[in-house]
Amino acid sequence: MPFLELQNLQKTYPDGTRAVRGIDLRVDKGEFIVLLGPSGCGKTTTLRMIAGLEDPTGGQITLDNQNVTHLPPSQRDVGFVFQFYALYPHMTVQKNIAFPLENIGTSPSEIEAAIDRVARALSIETLLDQYPRQLSGGDQQRVSLARAMVRTPDIYLMDEPLGTLDAEHRLELRAFIRRQQLSLSITAIYVTHDQEEAMSLADRIVVMDGGKIRQIGSPSEIYTHPADLFVANFVGSPGMNLLSGQIVQNGDNLTFTRPDTDIHIPIRANTAPAQVVFGMRPEFIRPANRGIPGKVILSEYLGSHGYVHVDTPIGELVMRSTDRFATGEKIHLHLNETHIRLFDPDTETALT
Ligand code: ATP
Repeated sequence: MPFLELQNLQKTYPDGTRAVRGIDLRVDKGEFIVLLGPSGCGKTTTLRMIAGLEDPTGGQITLDNQNVTHLPPSQRDVGFVFQFYALYPHMTVQKNIAFPLENIGTSPSEIEAAIDRVARALSIETLLDQYPRQLSGGDQQRVSLARAMVRTPDIYLMDEPLGTLDAEHRLELRAFIRRQQLSLSITAIYVTHDQEEAMSLADRIVVMDGGKIRQIGSPSEIYTHPADLFVANFVGSPGMNLLSGQIVQNGDNLTFTRPDTDIHIPIRANTAPAQVVFGMRPEFIRPANRGIPGKVILSEYLGSHGYVHVDTPIGELVMRSTDRFATGEKIHLHLNETHIRLFDPDTETALT
């Protein structure tokens, strides 16, 4: 029995917007699940239905063997962390953090110990006597995380909790959340549109688009074997190189080619449809002495590595590289054939 199960969960708002169009998800105790997808794909609505803040218009939610589909939030043991830290302005940081424990009648000595533990973990010991208005945005978000994590609900629901932070604080709190997860095995559903955040935090990622689930899998499954073109493009920064073309028999091999070119890339498959979309991640393309000829049209330098956009006879390819290239430079590219992904151009789903 999964700890949390969503069965054909749906939400149509009164104005007719179909925000969630029937999703199925099974979450085990201790799993950290990230809902990932572009703005408007239904992540927040899904999370709010699990919390009881939105009433589903179809389907069922089971939490810890109980059908909670239409129960109010107070009757579900969830800890919710919002993107915007809703701290009580008239309470000190200490009081804000203590509040959820006081609410459930925890003894003062236990509250003190719990605050001490979470304040140390989040490095906010020196802020305990201050009021929210005296804190920076980053510190307010830390306090809001501390307030959510001071007790251990059945499940944590986090809606872009790092969304408003600057890059440095994001990375710091991301690492904190992952450490908490690994040491306490908390069950959590975490919403983000940031695929790097999703990859670094999740046990499993649920990629959503248009109110539906595109793919559920571990970060490496999602990255290396995207289920469809949407996932191939959305996950990865930049996304996968994608080219539409033909599969033809070339001697003993099947090869991928495009019109008006004599370039053939061998495909390691015995059969493939005649029309495909060819995919390859930028890190599986490298400069070589021989290979596909091309001209550098853009070189993006990012410090530890860069992305080089190359115009070739089969189309534009983006290569990850630690070498730097000048715009206009003529180079050859080698494509690592073991990492070719093929997709059906009609259904857009993966063939390999
Ligand atoms: P974001 O990252 O921008 O928050 P999201 O993936 O979380 O996006 P939702 O907030 O769940 O998406 O919204 C899904 C769809 O439902 C959107 O089209 C949104 O405009 C719509 N929507 C959300 N709340 C309501 C509402 N109360 N009434 C009508 N439509 C709504």
